[in-house]
Amino acid sequence: MNEREEKTIKAGKILKTIKKELNSIVKPGKKLIEIAEYVENRIIEMGAKPAFPCNISINSNAAHFTPKRGDERILEESVVKIDIGAHLDGYVADTALTFDLTHENQKLVEAAETALENAISQVKAGVDVSKIGKVIEETIKSFGFRPVYNLTGHGLDRWIAHSKPTIYNYEAGKGVKLEEGMIIAIEPFVTTGIGKVADGTEVEIFSLNPKIVQNDKNIKLVRMRQAREILKEAINYKTLPFAKRWLSKAPDIIVNKLVRDGFLRSYPVLVEVSGGIVSQAEHTLIVEKDSAIVVT
Ligand code: MN
Ligand code: MN
Repeated sequence: MNEREEKTIKAGKILKTIKKELNSIVKPGKKLIEIAEYVENRIIEMGAKPAFPCNISINSNAAHFTPKRGDERILEESVVKIDIGAHLDGYVADTALTFDLTHENQKLVEAAETALENAISQVKAGVDVSKIGKVIEETIKSFGFRPVYNLTGHGLDRWIAHSKPTIYNYEAGKGVKLEEGMIIAIEPFVTTGIGKVADGTEVEIFSLNPKIVQNDKNIKLVRMRQAREILKEAINYKTLPFAKRWLSKAPDIIVNKLVRDGFLRSYPVLVEVSGGIVSQAEHTLIVEKDSAIVVT
């Protein structure tokens, strides 16, 4: 086994442990920031680093919500997706699960989990990703729901949380064929709504433009001191996403300018446009000749 696979598996093991612990932590009345910081601190305690901020996306928020610094919001009886990532030297494991705190949406959660299981059973070298999408879509529809059509699974590369191939959650026509040794994340999103997400208003997650990471001399050329300070801190995360609350000082006006000027990429909260409730399940896998290793 090579370094890349070993480190991904190790990062995955850490996430497995944390997911178990979440059962006693993800409860109505908990502060969102407590949950996020618990996850991120545990990843560090166990010797890895967060690959992206802990996402806590509630009800029709599908993804990309993370609390802000000093956030007072509390978890209510809702459908909550916890999406977590850890990396060792840039080798990322990415996984997510859904808690139904309403006790009325268990089928929605089950649909995502079953779609993921069925998808995983198809994974091996040579399989076209469209086949995986087909299985996901069929499973979700058999539960009477829809996939979120514009959210996808993806490949994982060193320091890159979303790379090729794109793994659709429906049959999207011929895609690429999986290859032995590929590291991929499969993540069905299921909804009671029409199955489309769009950018919401809140943005707490950002990443650096890879060009800035490749050539950090560009940072010195930034004239505004506060902007320079943000970039100097952000470069610690290389091309991986980070939370605004991870920076010591990040006034919105400066952060927004850095986004406009192309230094930062922003990840707004993604909201199901028809107000549907969304569930998600996700695992990271290493593709093998005849099957896959599920690392999370
Ligand atoms: Mn994820
Ligand atoms: Mn993912």
